[in-house]
Amino acid sequence: MNPTTILVKFHETALKGRNRHIFINRILDNLRVATKDLPVKNIWHKRLIIGLSLHEEAKIPEIAKRITNCFGIAKFYPVYEVEKNLESTLNLLKEILEQTKFDTFRITAKRPSKNFNLTSDEINRKVGTFVEEFTNSKVQLKNPDLEIFIEVMDNNIFIHTEEFKGFGGMPVGVSGRAMALMSGGIDSPVAIWQMLKRGTTVDMLHFHSYPLVDKSSIEKAFDLAKILNQHQYNSKLFLAPLSKIQQKIIVEVPPEYRVLLYRRFMIRIAEKLAIHKKSIALITGESLAQVASQTLENIAAIDAAVKMPILRPLIGTNKDEIIEHSKRIGTFDISIRPDQDCCSLFVPKHPITAAKAEILESFENSLPMKEMIESSIEQTTEEKFIYP
Ligand code: ATP
Ligand code: MG
Repeated sequence: MNPTTILVKFHETALKGRNRHIFINRILDNLRVATKDLPVKNIWHKRLIIGLSLHEEAKIPEIAKRITNCFGIAKFYPVYEVEKNLESTLNLLKEILEQTKFDTFRITAKRPSKNFNLTSDEINRKVGTFVEEFTNSKVQLKNPDLEIFIEVMDNNIFIHTEEFKGFGGMPVGVSGRAMALMSGGIDSPVAIWQMLKRGTTVDMLHFHSYPLVDKSSIEKAFDLAKILNQHQYNSKLFLAPLSKIQQKIIVEVPPEYRVLLYRRFMIRIAEKLAIHKKSIALITGESLAQVASQTLENIAAIDAAVKMPILRPLIGTNKDEIIEHSKRIGTFDISIRPDQDCCSLFVPKHPITAAKAEILESFENSLPMKEMIESSIEQTTEEKFIYP
């Protein structure tokens, strides 16, 4: 005996009035892509419910993982399906009860379709009495060991006992496109995850100093992109060289200003690439005051280098919260792998904490900016990720 269908309830997307169909269609598309290699017969939608009809051999944990990773879903549950009458309901319940251990339970009946000879209350009572007699267990409305849900539909009855929680948010693809600056660190992958959860399509951009350093940061960026792509299904990772820019900067700029100059070059290159790739915002993993380069003054000095909005989803988040989050989303173990990060090259332990944009500009004016930026963009490579 296997569940025949998984029912999916959306998150806030259900509330989006006239645009609702855009959100629902996007979730349907995303679910179809996410489960395309699994034994799912078809994916349908009726009013505010999405259903995945399963083949006999479907394995719930595997499908549940894919559905969980699809943003925009509040919760979902595998259901058993029976004919629309009490007798079939009780027969199926016998099978479920024989496989389940519990002392207390409750029945929660709902009638999305009112066309049935019993009210929800009558179903609760009749089925409750049956379960008590069949198993010798007791009804307990608050915090029961087992909750048995019975949903009366147009043509049949759905029964389920197990519910999974989704991440909520919006389906990826409904909130525009943005270019994220992704280091190999802990923060930026979490920032990207947050933006994906709000429905943004995210292109990733990693700066490296290869061949001044080894390829470890590039390898981490690859592995991080793979993890994040489980929510997006189709991702691009751009790899941009920073080493030539850094070599020019160290000749002209005192050590304490270098990190900020690197950042301003990065953000300019990111903006140019973003425009080219049709993104309308940039994303970073900065968190206010976490390190010297992330004081409010320095953040303002970075912003001053570009026109495009820079989104910083982690700006008010503490480091321990970000770490906890990165563990939950599966990026932490990759992020903590040792690497040779481009921003640690030729910089002092204590960079300036309140850089003035004018001073940074005066350094930049002594550099062949346009050429440096264009040359990095020309040498930028693109990697594609497809999931599953
Ligand atoms: P992270 O954990 O994301 O590396 P961090 O706390 O180490 O963040 P910084 O190293 O100061 O902070 O970087 C701040 C932000 O600048 C990063 O979150 C990221 O968005 C961007 N950034 C830093 N280094 C790179 C890089 N090599 N490639 C792309 N973006 C980068
Ligand atoms: Mg970093």
